[in-house]
Amino acid sequence: MKIMYVEDNPANISLLQRIARMGGHDVINYTNGEHALNNFAQDRPDLVLMDLQLEGRISGLEVVQLLRQRGFTTPIVAVTAYAMVGDRERCLEAGCDSYLSKPLPIAELVELVQTYERKMQPIVNSPSAPKLNGAAHP
Ligand code: MN
Repeated sequence: MKIMYVEDNPANISLLQRIARMGGHDVINYTNGEHALNNFAQDRPDLVLMDLQLEGRISGLEVVQLLRQRGFTTPIVAVTAYAMVGDRERCLEAGCDSYLSKPLPIAELVELVQTYERKMQPIVNSPSAPKLNGAAHP
């Protein structure tokens, strides 16, 4: 799976890279929202983790809004250090699928990556997946 992590904090970037590597995933990092936006169509990530406070002129939420306006349906998980009341709602309104608050909870992050990986499986494997003929194996 290709994970785009839009984040400007080096500690968080290396944490996510370690977690992704354990699962055999690739990470593309941008510290600047505009760079992420401009390269999105070319990068075609399977999952996006989006910090809200970024380098450059636009915030993570603005990046999400623009991606959704442009028709991208890629799952986006917001990550923010400011776990304020209403934050979650703002993220979901902007078009995020879910939300994690910092400091990044490692176990939840691992589980999140696995969850999206599983969601992808049927799409990735469907053309070549063996037919089950009704009877499930015990
Ligand atoms: Mn930040």
